[in-house]
Amino acid sequence: MAESDAARRRHYLTALGIEEWLPRATAGVPAVPAAPAVPAAPASAWEQLSAEVARCTRCDLHRTRTRAVLGVGDRHAQWLVVGEAPGAEEDRQGEPFVGRAGQLLDAMLRAIGLARGHNVYIANILKSRPPGNRDPDPAEVAACLPYLERQIELIRPRLILAVGRIAMQNLLGTDSSLGRMRGQVHEFGGLKTPLIVTYHPAYLLRKPEDKRKAWEDLKFARSVFARLA
Ligand code: URA
Repeated sequence: MAESDAARRRHYLTALGIEEWLPRATAGVPAVPAAPAVPAAPASAWEQLSAEVARCTRCDLHRTRTRAVLGVGDRHAQWLVVGEAPGAEEDRQGEPFVGRAGQLLDAMLRAIGLARGHNVYIANILKSRPPGNRDPDPAEVAACLPYLERQIELIRPRLILAVGRIAMQNLLGTDSSLGRMRGQVHEFGGLKTPLIVTYHPAYLLRKPEDKRKAWEDLKFARSVFARLA
């Protein structure tokens, strides 16, 4: 790894709160290429999806949201990150993970060579903010999940990283705890996209002692991806 890459990675690990660690498992692993793995979906398909989500009234959350939040990033990305639902700041700005948790997510992604807008797409289970940031209810998830499924069809990511219990449980259709599902390669949907789980950055802000476990998950995801490529 070039010295500047090593320095950059140390910087992001420091932001993650993992100062004394050398990221040995990813040393020498090249940055994730931005090149599309499959033919790009037509822009019109994205425009249609985006317009549909913007005017969606499938659940009551449309009454209280400021705007629907479809997702952000490289629509040809090989990595897809899925979180829970927009929070207050995301609802205002129309972009996922832009608050404090988003800054930590960006640092986590940078530590494995991913950058928002470059080689990763970021989306949520729900496209509209639940008032007071309560957990999504099952009817809201059922109404909204087809949008994420469509995004996955269009992006065709090689790997999905589910951040947090809500994303993990809804994508995998399980009541298991996040702890039980870590460290394994799961599959999502008809395309059987490999799926790996880790902690939600908002949780890590509340429980920084678990950042080390999140770093283990990220290294695991990075090494699984390297074997897929
Ligand atoms: N938490 C999420 O799960 N998603 C966001 O977009 C912001 C915070």
